[in-house]
Amino acid sequence: MNSALRSALLLLAAPAAALAQSLEPALEAVKTENVKADIHFIASDEMRGRDTPSAEIRIAARFIQARLMRLGFEEGGHKGYFYEYPLTNSAVDLAGSVASIEGGPSFELGVDYWFRARSVSEDFSRSASVIFAGSTGENRDLSDLEGVEGAWLAFEDAGRSTGRLRRDADRAGAAGLVLIEPKAGEYSLRFEGNVERMAKGAVSYPTSRERGPSRDNELFPVLYLTEGAWAGLCQASPSCPEGAGTEGWQPERGLNLEVSLTETRKRAGEDTIIMENVCGFWPGSDPELSKDVIIVSAHYDHVGTRDGEVYNGADDNGSGTAGMLAVAEALHAYGPMRRSVMLIWVSGEEKGLWGSRAWSDKPHLPEGCRPVANLNIDMIGRNEPDKLMITPSSKHEKYNGMVRFMEEFAKLEGFPELQSADAYYHRSDQAMFERLGIPVAFLFTDIHEDYHQPGDTVDKVDCDKICRVVRTVVRMLDAMQTDSLDF
Ligand SMILES: [Zn+2]
Repeated sequence: MNSALRSALLLLAAPAAALAQSLEPALEAVKTENVKADIHFIASDEMRGRDTPSAEIRIAARFIQARLMRLGFEEGGHKGYFYEYPLTNSAVDLAGSVASIEGGPSFELGVDYWFRARSVSEDFSRSASVIFAGSTGENRDLSDLEGVEGAWLAFEDAGRSTGRLRRDADRAGAAGLVLIEPKAGEYSLRFEGNVERMAKGAVSYPTSRERGPSRDNELFPVLYLTEGAWAGLCQASPSCPEGAGTEGWQPERGLNLEVSLTETRKRAGEDTIIMENVCGFWPGSDPELSKDVIIVSAHYDHVGTRDGEVYNGADDNGSGTAGMLAVAEALHAYGPMRRSVMLIWVSGEEKGLWGSRAWSDKPHLPEGCRPVANLNIDMIGRNEPDKLMITPSSKHEKYNGMVRFMEEFAKLEGFPELQSADAYYHRSDQAMFERLGIPVAFLFTDIHEDYHQPGDTVDKVDCDKICRVVRTVVRMLDAMQTDSLDF
């Protein structure tokens, strides 16, 4: 029997054998020089760190789109190759946001008081009486205070972290915290530029509103009051001795000042910004199995610029972005797999997994298809050539069949032993895809001294290593074409 006929028969009789024949050219299609060229573009200074949102991340998205078009991928988003999702930009209405004492003084935001939030997700107002609770340095136990529920707790700010106090006060049902400036002028220094940022607004993922106001912001407000404003508040208290300035009067710990403090925050309009995930669909060939979609993902955003300095993000995550382009090249060489593959480059990862959150909130797949697994790659191009980490590792409760396979395939690609990346299980996009109820695996080559620094540049990235990680992924995809996926 000649070999061509033999392989044709094998193709009919035993798909597994045919698949093995596709794997070789697919692995060969993953080329160091291609990955290098792609990272040189993606992590160039001109891409200005691919912030979410920015003009440059939109250019990166079109670069990826061009490659998907050339390699014959189907459009995997609801707008061509793009899966769009909205971000909201909610600025603070400085004039409309105010704190005041009933029958007493009004305090101006940015002059008399501050809060930490940079945006207001919805208009908010809270009135309550004020209890003087002592100092954040010494009085960290609230259990002996009376009438905490529904009252503002005022503390002299001793400079200690207030995280625990806030939590305890919140649990005790307090209305919020008032921190009193330790020294005149200190807060205006500490919050320098804060008001300008509030007026500009912050970009956020809109479901934070659907989920209710954020913890730091409206749910449990923390006000930073100047020394002078605190004096004014004290003077409005009926307990304040006649004619006493604050220097002359210091309320005792636990005293309810019997003044009503109202804080109002107002939002100053809102802009919606549309962001994009880039999605390339590689349809499967099997009439049934093609409804199973394996999601391969990597984030293509980074942190942008700071003080004019570009954060190139060559490893984070230029490596994964270019790595996924190499996966696309490999699939092109492989031809259709039995199952379908969706390649998703997500944006907004650095801001809080926004792109993968958006996609997993509302998955977009062809009619009748369902996601079956997620392989995520983020930062795969640094550290020792043989160092590769994975989560969920064998010590993790979500350890799965995919990872078991990967441990074997990694050996073939020069990674003798996979280390645990379990500490990062919730820190990249697999954490969002996991919400779909599917097994996930995350490949990662660990952080380094240039992590989220301007020094994360292309010259330090090991493109051969990226290719070996990509081939591990391609081997995994190939192994996932068996009749049943038993994870
Ligand atoms: Zn990062």
